[in-house]
This record gives sequence, C-alpha cells and structure tokens, in this order.
Amino acid sequence: MSTTAAAQRVFNFSPGPAVLPLAVLEQAQRDLVSLPGYGMSILEMSHRAQGFLDILASTKQLLRELLAIPANYQIVFLQGGSRLQFSMVPINLLRGQGEAADYLSTGSWSKMAVDEAKREGQVRIAYDGKATNYDRLPTAAEAGLNPKAAYTYLCSNETIQGVQFDKEIETGGSPLVIDASSDFLHRPLDFKNIGLVYACAQKNAGPAGVTCVIIRDDLLERSQDNLPGYLNYKNHVKEDSLYNTPPTFAIYLMNLVLRWLKDDVGGLAAMHKRNKDKAALLYDLIDGSNGYFKGHAQPANRSLMNVTFRLPSEALEKKFCKDGEDRGLDGLKGHRSVGGIRASIYNAMPVEGVKELASFMREFQKSNG
Ligand SMILES: *Cc1c(COP(=O)(O)O)cnc(C)c1O
Repeated sequence: MSTTAAAQRVFNFSPGPAVLPLAVLEQAQRDLVSLPGYGMSILEMSHRAQGFLDILASTKQLLRELLAIPANYQIVFLQGGSRLQFSMVPINLLRGQGEAADYLSTGSWSKMAVDEAKREGQVRIAYDGKATNYDRLPTAAEAGLNPKAAYTYLCSNETIQGVQFDKEIETGGSPLVIDASSDFLHRPLDFKNIGLVYACAQKNAGPAGVTCVIIRDDLLERSQDNLPGYLNYKNHVKEDSLYNTPPTFAIYLMNLVLRWLKDDVGGLAAMHKRNKDKAALLYDLIDGSNGYFKGHAQPANRSLMNVTFRLPSEALEKKFCKDGEDRGLDGLKGHRSVGGIRASIYNAMPVEGVKELASFMREFQKSNG
C-alpha cells in the first residue's frame, strides 16, 4: 500500500466486516497480481491447484497451532456465514437425537440460533436473558444444564449487546457448541468440553465469505445420510473443504491473518493480553465518567470485543458519532436494538485507535457535560 493510502485510513470500529491488520492488507496487495512462486493471482487459481492446496493445508495447520486443537477435531471452511450454522448445527447434531439440546439465549445472535434450532428438533432454553435486555450471562449452575443434552449451545460473544463468556462453560459431558463469530482467536480455547466451534471470518479472522467450523470426530457420526449434500458436515470433512469450490480468496486472507497472529503478535495468549489492555482503557473511562457514559453489559460479563454504552441522551449519541467520524473514528453507532454506542475493538484494532477513542470520549464529556 502506498504511504498515502495507509495515511488515509481511519480507525474503524465497525462490528463487521471489520478492521484487518494493515500488514495483512499490504501483503495481499503486494501478492495480488502474482502469488510468489505460483505465477498467477490467488483469485485466478484453481481450488485443486497445488498453490491453493498449500494455502488450505497451511491455514488448517496455523489454526491447529494457535488454538492447540486436538487431533480428534476436524477443521472445515464453509460458506453461508454463521447464519447457515444456526441451521447446520441442529440439522446435523439434533435430528434423530433422543434428548433436547440446551440453548443459552444470551443476546440477539443466540436468540436467532434458538429460532432456527426449533425447526429441527427439541430445544430447551436453559437461560433467557431477555428480561434484563441481555446485559449479563448465566453461570453453568444458574442455567441448570442437562449433562445428557444432545449438545449445549452458546454464543461466546454477543456482538450486539457486548456480553462475553471469559471461559468455556462446564457442561458435565454434553458437547459444547460455540458460536465464536465475533471473538474467534481473541484468546486460547479450552477444548475439554467443546464438541463444535464455528466462526464467520469477517469480525475477527478475515474477510466476509468464509466460515470456519471445528468439529469433534464422534459428532460426525450423528449426521444422517438423507441430508442435502452441502448441509452434511461429513461431506466437507471427507472432501477436505473441497466438496464444492471453497471461497479461496477469503481462506487465503485468513491465512495471512493467522500468520500475523503467530509471527507479529506472538500467539493467542499475547493477543488476549493486548485485548484485555485495550478494553480496560474504555471500561475504566466509562466507570470513571460519573455516569456520563453508562455501560450496557454488567461489569462481570463485559466483552473485550464490543464495548457498548449509552450517553445521557440520544441527541448526544448522534453528535458523538458525528464528531467521532470527523475525527477519523468510524463505525461507532450502536445496533438499533440496543441503541447508543458500540466500539468494536477486535484483534486488529491497534491500541493507538483505542487511545484515540478514549481521548475523544474525555474531551466530548468535557465539552458536552
Ligand atoms: C455476525 C454474527 C453472526 C452472523 O454472521 P453471518 O456471517 O452474517 O451469517 C452470527 N453470530 C454472531 C455472534 C455474529 O457476530
């Protein structure tokens, strides 16, 4: 990227598609016309060519390394976004099961997953956060999880409300299914209870177009043979994500993001620390603002990825977004269902961007207090 183009970049707080590491964009730009060693662009390459097969294998390998994914889990790259997983999960794992699946309904995204799962089988809503406008998360004990549930479903980070689980919940044996769309790779995962994890890439792992699914071997046995071919996880595992033409460019870009996480950041523990430090800059400011900024999430369940808060009036919130934009702070408007402000500070948001936002917030309070 020319220095002028890089200098024109704003701090992008969009919830998704979202900010990507500048180093990743620059490398993609350098290699777009001809991928070094292959004589053609990744955009022109057959998904069966050695060049792409190398990228696919390396992407899986990097994921295994970064997340310490055990050998009895398979990794596939699908299309249809996380929305399709709301259906694919119950189509594959719930149809034909004797026990209901336990769902934790903790925000907009898990609520939508509940609605889709109900079409496929028995669903028990083990926790429903609607009464408190999804501002907190339950403990395993509070949810009274069924250890024999077909699976236990949760969304690790509710992108819209800004509540996040800070560790994997204890299920007592039921396979845990996690929608990690908006916090994938923001910290290490503990696979002890995990049966399946999925994430679309466009929040924290790459561009729109690819969804990564990690699934434990034994769960593949549940998929019935009469499913539409594309919807059967088994086909994607058997064909190593080449059941149909995969989103080659999106996988390539995810590969660059994974390399950035490994080589530039130093792995997921280091990434986690960076994310905690970034989020603390904003939450400390909110807590110290004498109630001028009011966080949506209860402090114990605050998200490191999506910081949601209100100002004293809607008019001030509007002005906040407008003044922010004028200052190169983009995408701060909250989701219409929660209102207010949402600052999405994913892995790729540099600490300088968060510091700039914090300075802006302090100045805004002073001049509009
Ligand atoms: C964005 C998002 C989705 C939906 O992803 P699509 O790729 O648009 O289908 C699902 N779950 C969560 C937690 C999200 O943040």
